[in-house]
Amino acid sequence: MSILGSTVSSAPSVATLEQLRVIKALRERRMFKLICGATYSDFNAVARYSEIFAKVGAHLIDICAHPTVVSAAREGILRSGVSTEKFPAIMVSLSLDHQQDPHFRRVVLNENSCDACGVCIPVCPTNAFSIKDAKLSYQKELCYGCGSCVSLCHVDALTPTPIQAFQPAILPELWSLGARALEIHVGPNFYWLEPYLSKIREISPEPWLISVCLGSGFSSYTELIEQAQEIHNILGDWALVQVDGKPMSGFARQDALMLQALSAAQAILTTNLPLFVQVSGGINDKIRPLLDQFELKVHGAGMGSFAKKLIEPYLNNLETATQIAQNLVMSIRPS
Ligand code: SF4
Ligand code: SF4
Repeated sequence: MSILGSTVSSAPSVATLEQLRVIKALRERRMFKLICGATYSDFNAVARYSEIFAKVGAHLIDICAHPTVVSAAREGILRSGVSTEKFPAIMVSLSLDHQQDPHFRRVVLNENSCDACGVCIPVCPTNAFSIKDAKLSYQKELCYGCGSCVSLCHVDALTPTPIQAFQPAILPELWSLGARALEIHVGPNFYWLEPYLSKIREISPEPWLISVCLGSGFSSYTELIEQAQEIHNILGDWALVQVDGKPMSGFARQDALMLQALSAAQAILTTNLPLFVQVSGGINDKIRPLLDQFELKVHGAGMGSFAKKLIEPYLNNLETATQIAQNLVMSIRPS
């Protein structure tokens, strides 16, 4: 069961119920992952998203590798009332190099430059901005670095800034709190992956379900395919690869952005390597017609910005939020 990383070391390959459910959905090409964001640490919202998406059958909830965030997700899943065999697996993200990784950024506000024009307020998918007492109020824990506010600011008061990613030493604690899946974001330093995985196995020998996220920064499809082959060499058959089209861009609902992710997935799938391929980055609810049109047999999809933008206004209206979430989870299922 190499998706659990057992070829990296002598890690046990016993899967938990949540992991088996993910693997089954991947095999059936309908795995749905909700992406809250590697830096998103609004505990109440994470609990609510987890509750809503557990109710509608999501398979993975991808969150920040912070113990309190993991506890919040677990609480939300328990609150959903679904039976344990239907629990989504909680996934946490680490990065080989957070300095160069767009998933590990937050915007820093320069209050001296900001004139409270308010232009950034409506574009933020998580409502991180508001006006209070004629000044811009910014809740940085709501920022997951999508970057959509940055270029709109006419005085350059918003600067994307790398934040410290969590280190593998946190993993045993996260496992004990209920996290069962681990995503490793690689970037230009792809060759660090194998030693990094070995280090993780030493520190945290628990049978994590491992996904490797290939960023959008590859220089050619040849390079992307070489990376996929290397992942197969390291993790073995049916390792999980996430192909990230344009990270955190889905709120725009642009098919062109989705096609970027699908083209990269197609490059890997045409190699016939025995890998699970999941797309993310710009994915929206119109994915299925495109997959069918291009006869693209991806195994799953992750939605982040698009899902957040749709659901965030209804976080306190469980019925409506659940209905929207249900449609999103269904949108990846084969017809
Ligand atoms: S767009 Fe820039 S100047 Fe306007 S409120 Fe936002 S941060 Fe301030
Ligand atoms: S728009 Fe994106 S980058 Fe800007 S504050 Fe909101 S989440 Fe952060």
